[in-house]
Amino acid sequence: MVAAMTLTTRFAPSPTGYLHLGHAFSARMAWAKARAAGGRFLLRLEDIDSTRCKPDYADAILEDLRWLGFGWDGEVRVQSAHLAEYTAVLNRLEDRGLLYPCFCSRSEIMQAQAAPHSGEVMYPGTCKALSAAERAERTASGRKYARRLDVTKAVRETGALRFFEESTGWVDAVPQRLGDVVLARSDVPTSYHLCVVHDDALQGITHVTRGEDLLAATHTHTLLQKLLGLATPVYAHHKLLMDDNGKRLAKRDGAPTLRAMRLAGEDAVTVLKQLTESAV
Ligand code: GLU
Repeated sequence: MVAAMTLTTRFAPSPTGYLHLGHAFSARMAWAKARAAGGRFLLRLEDIDSTRCKPDYADAILEDLRWLGFGWDGEVRVQSAHLAEYTAVLNRLEDRGLLYPCFCSRSEIMQAQAAPHSGEVMYPGTCKALSAAERAERTASGRKYARRLDVTKAVRETGALRFFEESTGWVDAVPQRLGDVVLARSDVPTSYHLCVVHDDALQGITHVTRGEDLLAATHTHTLLQKLLGLATPVYAHHKLLMDDNGKRLAKRDGAPTLRAMRLAGEDAVTVLKQLTESAV
């Protein structure tokens, strides 16, 4: 007999700035889904990038969510406290020969891109072609390197894959869309893709709700889940909230933060009402 799984959602922001309405929209979707089903809503801080993440932002996330009334269940998972777990997962893939070192800088990758499309940076595979001797020589010279997933090899192992998109049904996964993603950065011994897949499974997430900007990543995550023997959750990619000029809300463009709204005396009910209106 299969035990029924409790519907479990999560909100997984990176504390690199204060939350804005776009985050509130995403958080509400996950929170409301869990509450409607009598399930669990979990909070995870994706803070592996120690240069960009700040404890002040992490504290503000908790405060803002409480202010909006989106209480979470259980402990907050803080990724930076679990680096050894991610390394263990990485090593499993390394031992299977599914990773290769990449010595390219970001600007080299941008220059070598054959056909940049839709803002996705597709790695052209430069370092995959290096010989064992070249790799050894570069590593010995102390050059920093990232580790990338060999997607062609990985797909050969897994065969065809798919994931379930809540509003439209089954989607054939095409992990080649993002190509040979980084699973360990040169400055951090893991990456977003590795951590998110590991943590979604560990935390028993049954439904991932997140912005449609991460749809391509979901194709990659489906592959990683299969490689690691993890269940693939149901996905719901939501539209991104836009500003009055039709531009996606972003902290770098000065989108008003929830904190600023709160300090300006706005009440949470009014903010939540704006979210409902933006959703149509
Ligand atoms: N940490 C990611 C972000 O803040 C979200 C990851 C996810 O929902 O899978 O954009």
